[in-house]
Amino acid sequence: MEKVAVFPGSFDPITRGHESIVLRALPLFEKIIIAIGENSDKATCFSTEKRLEWIKSVFKTEKKIEAVTYKGLTVDFCKEVGAKYILRGLRTSADFEFERSVGQINKKIFPEIETVFFLTVPELTALNSSIVRDILRHGGDVSQFIPEGVDL
Ligand code: ADP
Repeated sequence: MEKVAVFPGSFDPITRGHESIVLRALPLFEKIIIAIGENSDKATCFSTEKRLEWIKSVFKTEKKIEAVTYKGLTVDFCKEVGAKYILRGLRTSADFEFERSVGQINKKIFPEIETVFFLTVPELTALNSSIVRDILRHGGDVSQFIPEGVDL
């Protein structure tokens, strides 16, 4: 069976941190679906359309990578697309505590799912989408933090 991983997140916007996780995970899977979760309770800065367009343009030459949006539980989406792996990045111990709980509950709901974690490369540990949004809000240059192909 095809090894498919879902990389869920807000990607508000996609950063070099996200890009790095996807590229490093790529040799392990036949397909990686980058999935923007549309949760009505989480306000985002950029529209879903824009976030999706940026992800697609970053990975436009990589046939093994798809970008989509989904609603509802991540595990339900995984079942729908036939994915047995959830991909996540770990930057800090705070990430770990959060991910441990979500990962363990996801496995309770869908026992066949495995969450695969990648440790961030040291130079990208401090990077997150919220910092990028803050810099943008104040007119700063974010080009070193976002992948090529993203025209913010
Ligand atoms: P969420 O809204 O679920 O936190 P994000 O879009 O912020 O989604 O992140 C999606 C995934 O990307 C998460 O697993 C997060 O840990 C990971 N991630 C975000 N920034 C980085 C980074 N700089 N290095 C590695 N992983 C990262």
